[in-house]
Amino acid sequence: MISVTPLSGKGSTVVASHPIVERALQQGHTLLTEIESKQVLHDLGIATTQGQLATSEDEAVRLAVAIGFPVVLKIASPDITHKSDVGGVQLNLHSAADVRYAYRAILQSTAVHAPDARVEGVAVQAMAKPGVEVIIGMSQDATFGPVLMFGLGGVLVEVLQDVAFRIVPLSQRDAAEMIRDLKGLPLLQGYRGTPAVDLDALERMLLTLSEFVAQTPAIQEIDLNPVYAYPEGALAVDARIILAAPAASA
Ligand code: ADP
Ligand code: MG
Repeated sequence: MISVTPLSGKGSTVVASHPIVERALQQGHTLLTEIESKQVLHDLGIATTQGQLATSEDEAVRLAVAIGFPVVLKIASPDITHKSDVGGVQLNLHSAADVRYAYRAILQSTAVHAPDARVEGVAVQAMAKPGVEVIIGMSQDATFGPVLMFGLGGVLVEVLQDVAFRIVPLSQRDAAEMIRDLKGLPLLQGYRGTPAVDLDALERMLLTLSEFVAQTPAIQEIDLNPVYAYPEGALAVDARIILAAPAASA
């Protein structure tokens, strides 16, 4: 059962203890798959390209038709954290034939590059329209406990390490400041004719995650990479939630 705890003063609710998290803890799993991670985020009110699991080519095609083309297929494995590194992501699939080809290509490639990985199937999801890439993360700091990270995605984060951190729980001011601290802020505010992105939506995402993390001590790490920021709204395109191993979460 989902237990929902009202948050004081905000008029919103957040899932304090999600059944997917509880089940994983009971089963001793520490890595939630992308499908599981996105389900948790969705239940928190964070927009995602939610995936559905296909365990056959036919099922992948059925799901793609139901979702609507173009779609994306990704390997679903509790043992694979960087899906594109093993050829586990196929983007922009426009037809049933594309989906069948991609399904086979993903399974073949992961069998070569990650032969020992347990494979649950292939996740089928909507292809997101392009946005400004940002990343949102959460990790446990030895001194400060849970901290949230916000940064610009792609080359900027890798080369310039243009990221900001704040300690959980975040105030609204923390969320606003960590976005505005970035050197690359002009890229979010509209640059050479590109429209400004919805900074409020990014702030809300940070605050929602902060509330969730504050209420769920078993969370070890969260990676939303990338999140696409749009003039209206923001969408988590990839998601990973890692739980503390039982011995460490006592
Ligand atoms: P990885 O495990 O390798 O990080 P991702 O799910 O992030 O896998 O996919 C790799 C890249 O493919 C992303 O950085 C993004 O650019 C693109 N991508 C993934 N999912 C989608 C989607 N649903 N719509 C559009 N682009 C996507
Ligand atoms: Mg990713």
